[in-house]
Amino acid sequence: MSSSIRRLLPIFDGIPHYMKQRINRLWKKWKEGAHEVITKYPETMTQRKKLNVLVFIGFLANEQKLNFAKKSDHGGPLGELLQWSDLLATLSIIGHHLEVSTDKESLKSIVWKYMGRGPCQYVNGSRQQLDIIFTDIMGLNILRQRHRQFLMNNRCRIRLLDSFGTHAEFTTKSYFLQNKRKLSGPDSQRNPWGGHGLDLRQHWTFYPHSDDNTFLGFVVDTEGVGENIQKTSTPSALIYGKQKYMWMDAEKPIGILKKLVKVHATVADLEFIPKNSSSLFDDVQNHGFLNSEEISELLDKTTIFFGLGFPLEGPAPLEAMAHGTVFINAKFEELKSRKNYKFLSEKPTLREWTSQNPYMEKIGEPHVITVDINNEEELEKAIKRAIELKVILFSGFNPKFLNFSRNRMYHSIAVLLEKQELCDKISISKRWPPVNEMKIFKTKKPDDSCEMTCHSQNMLCEPSYFPVMNSSPLLTREFSCSELSTDSSPFAPFNCTVQQSASLFSCASRPSPSSGVVRLCPCRDYIPEQHAICKMCL
Ligand code: UDP
Repeated sequence: MSSSIRRLLPIFDGIPHYMKQRINRLWKKWKEGAHEVITKYPETMTQRKKLNVLVFIGFLANEQKLNFAKKSDHGGPLGELLQWSDLLATLSIIGHHLEVSTDKESLKSIVWKYMGRGPCQYVNGSRQQLDIIFTDIMGLNILRQRHRQFLMNNRCRIRLLDSFGTHAEFTTKSYFLQNKRKLSGPDSQRNPWGGHGLDLRQHWTFYPHSDDNTFLGFVVDTEGVGENIQKTSTPSALIYGKQKYMWMDAEKPIGILKKLVKVHATVADLEFIPKNSSSLFDDVQNHGFLNSEEISELLDKTTIFFGLGFPLEGPAPLEAMAHGTVFINAKFEELKSRKNYKFLSEKPTLREWTSQNPYMEKIGEPHVITVDINNEEELEKAIKRAIELKVILFSGFNPKFLNFSRNRMYHSIAVLLEKQELCDKISISKRWPPVNEMKIFKTKKPDDSCEMTCHSQNMLCEPSYFPVMNSSPLLTREFSCSELSTDSSPFAPFNCTVQQSASLFSCASRPSPSSGVVRLCPCRDYIPEQHAICKMCL
């Protein structure tokens, strides 16, 4: 472990101001957390190999075109930058050697160093290898276009930051192309963010979306926030939406909100609205884009954090909840997915969104009320209820945030980088999580996924067990088969059918209700709120 921020100073010139600020502001807490996690898990946190980790933030490497760094102080997307900041802080504190790049030039010199073309590093006479490469989909595309051989040599070392996650149907180009009509809606039959052919566990997500992918997450600051919270006596709401296009279809719900509470906003591009063109922003106190301290202060005084249905699954509602606001989470009467919602139409997932933030929907009252904001009566009731609710504020750590705690992030990243082996085809006895932790269950209904089946047993579906379980003797025994067939299907193994394509093993996929499919599902237990780790696998 290494808690000096000095190790990160050399990279500060290359990352956006927002990231530097977040890392600096929270460093004291990162250090305290490091101490706690070592005390709690002395063996797993200290007996680890020091790895050479490349962090290539592809999201920032097309700056001339996309301007994401520049926009980070003016309402541009911040969720990704926040997650990259937390990842960098974690990797540095857990002691790994870091190479960080946010542009194509510096990437080239790192690639050359490890390919042996430039001055390379030797330790005890042997060339240094990269052990892990964190990048995103844009970064992977740049590696593919400019450093093909390097990518081929290091494919299994890639860990892809993939906010919404990727399902098996989208991971290989060929399966998607054969089935694209069935997998798409009217807006698009393309798969621009998928088709990388990686193991699904190489996709690391923003929320714990699916057991197929790995949950990376981010940190929500909760410690101590309760001490500063002082809600105003007149109830108030902050509307979630930092660009005006996010407000455009929400005239009616915003009108109802204005009737009942004082409304605040942090819309960054409001000055571009022609005066008198819309009454939407009348009686709204717009603060413009706020920095982290300012937004924290505003949330401390706010009663309601009001979702308009978009953006989906950002970090802000969890932060707002940590500051004692009630999150009004927009419920989708018709579930949204790539098949019926333009924003999702090219995302490589079949997930169906029940609301703006399905993770928070499960948290429920007193922190979250999920309601159809276009139903006037229901919305009015929800706003009144939110005003009534007394959110219990914890001055210390609120267990509702365990999935987003600093210690979880340290511990799971340390363990995953040490144990999640995706390069070697290792023998069954060396697999992690250990195979003797596997419990096999059959799906009960034809349209159940393995995730649903394992969750109903208070377990998780463990994708790394699929190849172990995909065996003829097991299927013959479980289904009393006289004969077995093979299939390349995201539902296999099922009935008397063996899986033929390893890339299609899937925890999340759901057969149609009329399919007659009975799947075999590999499940395991887990440490509460530590999805990556089973109880006996440390
Ligand atoms: N945020 C901010 N200033 C503002 C509005 C939001 O710093 O005026 C922060 C917010 O606290 C959160 C981050 O922006 O940490 C990202 O929020 P969001 O959920 O909107 O995700 P995004 O869509 O940007 O990925």
